[in-house]
Amino acid sequence: MKSVISLAAVSLAAVLVALTNPGDAAESPTSYPTKPVTIIVPFAPGGPTDTVARTIGAVMSKSLGQQILVENVGGAGGTIGVGRAVAAPADGYTVLLMHIGISTAPSLYRTLKYDVTNDLEPIGLVAEVPMTLVAKKDLAPANLRDFVTYVKANKTKMSYAHSGVGSASHLCGMLFMSAIETDVLTVPYKGTQPAMTDLLGGQVDFMCDQSTNTTSQIKADKIKVYGVTSKARLGSLPNVPTMDEAGMKGFNIGVWHGLWTPKNTPKIINEKLNKALQDALKDKDVIERMAALGTAPEPVTRQTPEALRAHLVGEIAKWAPIIKNAGVYAD
Ligand code: ASP
Repeated sequence: MKSVISLAAVSLAAVLVALTNPGDAAESPTSYPTKPVTIIVPFAPGGPTDTVARTIGAVMSKSLGQQILVENVGGAGGTIGVGRAVAAPADGYTVLLMHIGISTAPSLYRTLKYDVTNDLEPIGLVAEVPMTLVAKKDLAPANLRDFVTYVKANKTKMSYAHSGVGSASHLCGMLFMSAIETDVLTVPYKGTQPAMTDLLGGQVDFMCDQSTNTTSQIKADKIKVYGVTSKARLGSLPNVPTMDEAGMKGFNIGVWHGLWTPKNTPKIINEKLNKALQDALKDKDVIERMAALGTAPEPVTRQTPEALRAHLVGEIAKWAPIIKNAGVYAD
């Protein structure tokens, strides 16, 4: 009996120590952040989404007074990384940077285990990046019209690289193939950086990728480019026609990016993250770097939780019928 009492006394003492030890106490949201913050990027390192995260991350880090770490969680068109963010503790130390794919995945994946409109807290829109239709250097066609003819004639021999069902490159390729009514073999990667390596090596024939990943390769003349998916030409690539100019009317895709935290992250933490995001998006170096890569920060009015929430809902509704029509899905 005695030993039981003393054991109980020891456990009670341990509980009291745990409760009073400030190191073990839950952090108050007002003191956030007291340690490094991780941004989850649902694609491979060195690719376009990663580039956007690292570009804003440097200034967000200064603004928050803490280091920002980028964790690349690639696979399944970004859905694995988004799932990781959804399941992370809602303490502000895990932030998600994802793009347009977050709005197409609900229509593409029949077994998605989360609800992107409910399970994440929006922080703000970041930047909209156009895509470029690019091909390996030694492909013969010199312009989009000839390229389309070439793809149709060689469809059984050609391959298209993308970052998995639900990625921006997948969406763009799906729309392109449906526009020319020709399907070719598709090859999935964990991001378009590894896909770019294979395009440069000639192992795959073509892909769509954000200008944040293709600009330097286009300028160095290492790949062919047939068009950019923005409505107007890019200042950074003035000689590249829009897809519309090149002959594909209305082929516009803007890869918008947003920042989220897991559901139930305290409001005060989300506000601090939003301020850090806004600080980054008005930073001169960030603006210059984005311009050099064919993009720009979203206007201030869109760098808000309300704007991102509304945009996401609108995009899910916009893509659902298009995807349904295309008959594409994944499990
Ligand atoms: N460009 C990729 C995509 O297709 C994403 C990435 O690799 O960052 O969505």
